Parts: sequence; C-alpha cells; structure tokens
Amino acid sequence: MTELTDRELERYARNVILDEVGEAGQLKLLQSKVLVVGAGGLGAPLLLYLAAAGIGTIGIIDNDTVDVTNLQRQVIHDDAAVDRPKVESATKRLRALNPDIVIQPIAARLDAENAESIIARFDLVADGSDNFATRYLLNDLCYRLKKPLVSAALLRFEAQISTFKAYLGSPHPCYRCLFPEQPPEDLIPRCEQAGILGPVAGVMGSLQATEILKEILGIGDGLSGRLLMFDALGPTFREVRFKRDPDCRTCGA
Ligand code: ZN
Repeated sequence: MTELTDRELERYARNVILDEVGEAGQLKLLQSKVLVVGAGGLGAPLLLYLAAAGIGTIGIIDNDTVDVTNLQRQVIHDDAAVDRPKVESATKRLRALNPDIVIQPIAARLDAENAESIIARFDLVADGSDNFATRYLLNDLCYRLKKPLVSAALLRFEAQISTFKAYLGSPHPCYRCLFPEQPPEDLIPRCEQAGILGPVAGVMGSLQATEILKEILGIGDGLSGRLLMFDALGPTFREVRFKRDPDCRTCGA
C-alpha cells in the first residue's frame, strides 16, 4: 500500500488535509496495529476515535459483559447490548462506523499466560484497564517487547495519562519508575465504588486516542516522562515530570 484509494482519501480527508498528517501519515495509520486493553470508560471513546481515524487493525481485549450501569459513560455500548460481551458490542459498533479496517475482538482477561503472545501481534498498546495487576503486567511486557504504552486512569472527577517508552533507554521512564510498588487492589477505590462523572472518561479516552495517533505519526511532543492530570472540577490540567529510576525493577540496570 503506497497510496490511498479514492474512498480512503474521501473518508480521511480531514486528517489528510493536515500538513502534519498528509497522505503519508494516513497510510501510517492504516498500516498500524493498536491493542486496546478494556472496552470500558476509557476504551469506549478511545476505540471510536481510533476506528474513525483509520487505524488499520484494532485489537480489543476484555472479558466483561455490558452492564446497565456502564451506559452512563461507556458510549460505545448501547441499551440493546446489556448482558452481551463488551468485545462483541464494541466490535459491532466499530464495524458499523468504519467497515474498511480490521477489528480483532479478544474475549479474555489479559493475564500472565496470554499477554505476551497477544501484545506481540500489535505495534502499540493503549491501557484502558481498571486494575493495577493489568497496569503493571502491561508495563513490564511492553518494555520487554518494545511497544509504546499509552496508559490512563480515572476516578471520580479526576484522570491521568502518560506514555511509556522506557525500551528506548534513558531518559525515558516506565510506569514502575513512577509507581515502584503495586498497591493492593482494595487500597484505591474503583469507579464501581467511588463513582465517575461520565464525560471525564470521554476527556481522557479522547486524549489517549490523540496521543496514540501522535505516536504513530511521530508528531508533536509525546507524554513520555510526563504525567498529565485532569481535574474536572477546576477544571485544570496539571503536569508532573518524572525521571527514569536507575533502580527500577523493570527498566533499571
Ligand atoms: Zn522503570
């Protein structure tokens, strides 16, 4: 594939017209393979924007079913999908949105057994999971397999996002440089217990999609070494810079 078809030129016209994207950039998007972990609050807007932008292959891994309490924020699912697997509901919606790309649903929970072989099939990973075990697993495997990881998290009115590319070497840090120890799962409440204002997930999932497109296109400044925090009540965006930890158990010497 060295040039866009007429159909692609039309569909992606508003991308292609951007000098920073152009036909070459759109081809990069179409040739890229992105794995999205979780088809929930973050995954919903993220998947919709990645599919709309023409990411050529999108993997979705999730083992959950749609619950009626999800619909307040997980905008990729609809009322008719309640009790159906999230990957099935998301795949149906994405194929309706953009029939020209490949969607690969994986109805499973990412774990130490399956993660490596799944991640290896993709160029880049977006973490929209809701638990620390998955976050640390993705960090360690994406480092080892040299895949950029765009990771985000949500709670109540707040959200945060960063990008991890520690495999490139210093000064790029990994998630474990930032948070060395995995906290107990019950220490920090999840959205089910603490609540989440629906559009906060939309803001952060959309930012995650933006950073993924930028990473693929190689434009702008990425979020490696920067934790961007959003507080919807301010509303404020605040940034914390963090360094690679030479003693990190994942990326240290
Ligand atoms: Zn590290």
